[in-house]
Amino acid sequence: MSYNVNEKGYYGEFGGAFIPEMLYPNVEELRQNYLKVMAEPNFQKEFNQLLKDYVGRPSPLYFAKRLSEKYNTKIYLKREDLNHTGAHKINNTIGQILMAKRLGKHRIIAETGAGQHGVATATVCALMGLECIVYMGEIDIARQAPNVARMKMLGATVVPATSGSKTLKDATNEAIRDWINNPVDTHYIIGSVVGPHPYPDMVARFQAIVSEEIKWQLQEHEGTTKPDYVVACVGGGSNAAGSYYHFLDDTEVNLIAVEAAGLGVDSGESAATSVLGREGIIHGSKTLLMQTNDGQITEPYSISAGLDYPGVGPMHAHLYKSGRAEFISITDDDAMTAGLELCKLEGIIPAIESSHALAVFDKKQFRSTDIVVVSLSGRGDKDLETYINHFKL
Ligand SMILES: *Cc1c(COP(=O)(O)O)cnc(C)c1O
Repeated sequence: MSYNVNEKGYYGEFGGAFIPEMLYPNVEELRQNYLKVMAEPNFQKEFNQLLKDYVGRPSPLYFAKRLSEKYNTKIYLKREDLNHTGAHKINNTIGQILMAKRLGKHRIIAETGAGQHGVATATVCALMGLECIVYMGEIDIARQAPNVARMKMLGATVVPATSGSKTLKDATNEAIRDWINNPVDTHYIIGSVVGPHPYPDMVARFQAIVSEEIKWQLQEHEGTTKPDYVVACVGGGSNAAGSYYHFLDDTEVNLIAVEAAGLGVDSGESAATSVLGREGIIHGSKTLLMQTNDGQITEPYSISAGLDYPGVGPMHAHLYKSGRAEFISITDDDAMTAGLELCKLEGIIPAIESSHALAVFDKKQFRSTDIVVVSLSGRGDKDLETYINHFKL
């Protein structure tokens, strides 16, 4: 079995491109060109140069000695938190802005929920001098003032989505409407391994730098390119996809996907898509998503804004259904505790998303000889207020 996308844009039974007719030319242009463009030597050269000089790659693979001692196993942290802008998202936005330029686009649109992807997009638009329009739900704009300010400072226009629940899915609808109206000059930067084919595959390939580095870095540390486990949190699934990418078809490497259980999987306030989701279509692809019996998308909940998404990308739906990856869900409380533990044991303040992945060590016993690589997808600066309120600091 292959865990990669097939020529039709499917991972097993998941994926595809379920889009309005009017969007077809845009998506088809991208589909016909993305692999060709990515294979061009000058594209590769520019991408790798920017990852090195602008993002600060390679990000370290850090052996967490005190954390390893506590859990009696060998824990390595892949330090995406040290990237410029503080998370893995920049790997993808750098890739897509270069793609947009190669396709002759000079106007960039994006949608954002918590604002993290909006900031990563505004950043690369400033870098390249391209116009940037970010759609964001009116409620999210009010909740995420610092990220709105960042986007504005970076020169982006933030457009409020005022329909429906005034959150992420409404912002997505606005972005799609914009793209339909501006098919020639505009590229739509999607922020995770979601959306119609070829987005999930393209984003996974841009994030694949993470597992490419893990392999040679682990060779330096341990004399092997293969960890026993790779652990990553999953919102849409892009940091996980990047961390898994070069191990997907090597079943000696176990994959663990950590979802947000919120207040508990059965509480009605959760984002644990693999447990609660059923097959459906969201954001143009067939995948697992949380929905009511009549197919209305359920509002998800997680303390971490980046995991607060009602679906997972089609790659992850397939990894779940096929059993290739083990899915674990972690509550708000357990994630916060694991985050604080990393602060105390290693002097690293993680993003709350990443804290979910770190909570795996309280849920699962690893062997003392196991090499466990955890994707530390982002840094916790953006989450300070949530940590303060949770721990009454
Ligand atoms: C956005 C975000 C996530 C979730 O996105 P994925 O596409 O699931 O990786 C995880 N961690 C951080 C730090 C984020 O900013």
